[in-house]
Amino acid sequence: MNFEQKLKDKFPGAMPEADFVIKSFEAIFPLGFSAINAIACVGLCRDEITLPLSDAIKKTWGESFNFSSLAGMLFLGKMGFLAAQHHSPNEEGKERYVFYAFPHIAIDAEGEVGRCERSGRHGQSTACGALFSFQKEMEGGKLRLGLDFDDVEQSLLKIRLLQEIHYGQVPDLLELTQVTLKVIQTDIERMIGLTVDSSKNDYAVFTGIQIHGPKMNYIWPDVCYSVVNGTKQQIMLKAIKKGLEEL
Ligand SMILES: [Zn+2]
Repeated sequence: MNFEQKLKDKFPGAMPEADFVIKSFEAIFPLGFSAINAIACVGLCRDEITLPLSDAIKKTWGESFNFSSLAGMLFLGKMGFLAAQHHSPNEEGKERYVFYAFPHIAIDAEGEVGRCERSGRHGQSTACGALFSFQKEMEGGKLRLGLDFDDVEQSLLKIRLLQEIHYGQVPDLLELTQVTLKVIQTDIERMIGLTVDSSKNDYAVFTGIQIHGPKMNYIWPDVCYSVVNGTKQQIMLKAIKKGLEEL
């Protein structure tokens, strides 16, 4: 199974990430969100191969607040969420926040999940490396838990993700990425509940999985919605143009 087949099989509806960012903007622009009056907040893995998505969001929305941590986990806490909101434009007393949050995974030309090539680096590499390392640790049957101050983000990642993994089961990398997405979605909901005043301010949430293909990145959109004047509305993002046929 090559890359295109694997992408269609595992991530039906995935689209090139530049298209995704345009679609996300077009979905909420009619609801009053613009580059002038909203702040984008972006949570991705720290990995440099995630950056084209961050750059596309920045190009579309202007500056963006960085929520990123290993694997795209949201460890910035209430302080980070509130700081972003306090940096938002406040047009006529209303603030608007656009949250993007994505774990990531690579698929190589042969359809191998987790494998990627990095420019200038010999041999194959892995993405997400943090999740791959955790997966290998689980597979090895010995988990180092507890907060390691020399490895804070990876410690927190393991502690948080383990809450969602059935005891005794070792997910493969794809399953672990899906678990990570669910955790990110749960955590962003909780943090929004703790920090956002939706009676005064509007926001939108875009989540899914960022996929690194052999030629470009894709987004498989999952939970996406807006909250405007306190009313929640689902956003369906469909692939535009010819999608995969463009490859
Ligand atoms: Zn990563």
